[in-house]
Amino acid sequence: MTDHVASAEHGFAEQYGRRPAGVWSAPGRVNLIGEHTDYNDGFVFPFAIDRRTTVALGDRDDRLVRVASTFSPETVEAHLDTLTPDTVSGWAAYPLGVVWALAEFGADLEHVRGVDLHIDSDVPVGAGLSSSAAIECAVALALDEHWGLGLDRPTLAKVGRLAENRVVGAPTGIMDQSASLLGETDSGVFLDCRSLDADVIPLGFAEAGLSLLVIDTCVSHTHATGGYAARRASCEAGARVLGVESLREVRVDDLDRARELLDDETFRRVRHVVTEDQRVLDTVRTLREQGPGAIGALLDASHVSMRDDFEISVPELDLAVETAQAGGAIGARMTGGGFGGAAIALVGDERVPEVRRRIEAAFAERGYREPAIFTVHAAQGARRDA
Ligand code: ADP
Ligand code: MG
Repeated sequence: MTDHVASAEHGFAEQYGRRPAGVWSAPGRVNLIGEHTDYNDGFVFPFAIDRRTTVALGDRDDRLVRVASTFSPETVEAHLDTLTPDTVSGWAAYPLGVVWALAEFGADLEHVRGVDLHIDSDVPVGAGLSSSAAIECAVALALDEHWGLGLDRPTLAKVGRLAENRVVGAPTGIMDQSASLLGETDSGVFLDCRSLDADVIPLGFAEAGLSLLVIDTCVSHTHATGGYAARRASCEAGARVLGVESLREVRVDDLDRARELLDDETFRRVRHVVTEDQRVLDTVRTLREQGPGAIGALLDASHVSMRDDFEISVPELDLAVETAQAGGAIGARMTGGGFGGAAIALVGDERVPEVRRRIEAAFAERGYREPAIFTVHAAQGARRDA
């Protein structure tokens, strides 16, 4: 039995005084490339990571759903007959939002019995590694299987997104949940966010002697407010002026015309999305044709676009990226929604200690908070563990 299963079972027993009926888990994700393209109907290329959120579940005789987490001292309960988006708040909005969203996708919850859930996780929260999707997908898969709902994984991804959009109130896209549910070992999930077609594509990092380093700046971000929503609004405004349903339909070749029609700021927002879509396609093609050693320049260009055109980076992320590049990373970029969170660097195995040392030194020199630096591996998506 793996550590996280034992710890989840132990946590459940401490909380509820009995053994759980089952344990499920779902991973966080790193977005290799394709930032802020998901809600523009474009392309993303994330992978599930070897950091997971675990849900231990036990049956109840009544219609209550209780949730507890090592993340928070409060236990929250809801009744299956009265649960609505407005009756939950705080962290419990994620798991209880999923319960509500399952019914929105046609699950018959009229006759199911309640459950006790205990949640444990080693996905860092608020680091841009999507601890939110990890908790949503772990809960969604656990309840789907336990209650025998028969929803497929693409639908469970939509369940997670709906919970986050409507119950948590964060206007996020479908990428995180898709990576968490569809990811496979050593592979990325190339997702077309319009058709929701997903292709699992081997990354081959280990074989090529490459490590994927995450540099969590520990600068916190929050998607529910501010910048994320503003960027989304800019993209919608740009699409409206250009007469397209979504920026997915705009090509790099169309950008000259777009520059004439849009104000400078909206144009730069649009240019990021359009070029980023192209970089995702180029990354997938480059991986297939030349292997992971050849994708570095695309990662670097993605960062510049987010820093200068989309303006979602922060000085800590820029420093992490620049220092990694100077230290010999083959490519680096901020990842996730922006305004804090983590950067990633693709680094030859033998350069990892040096890159790490340089980033720590650079942060110390600027007086920035010490970053958390760790490697991640592409791992299996959501699953039942016990
Ligand atoms: P990210 O997804 O980048 O980690 P978010 O702000 O989207 O950051 O989601 C983080 C929030 O998700 C937390 O503040 C908390 O409300 C909820 N959450 C994530 N993991 C857990 C967990 N293990 N237990 C309880 N709540 C969690
Ligand atoms: Mg999140």
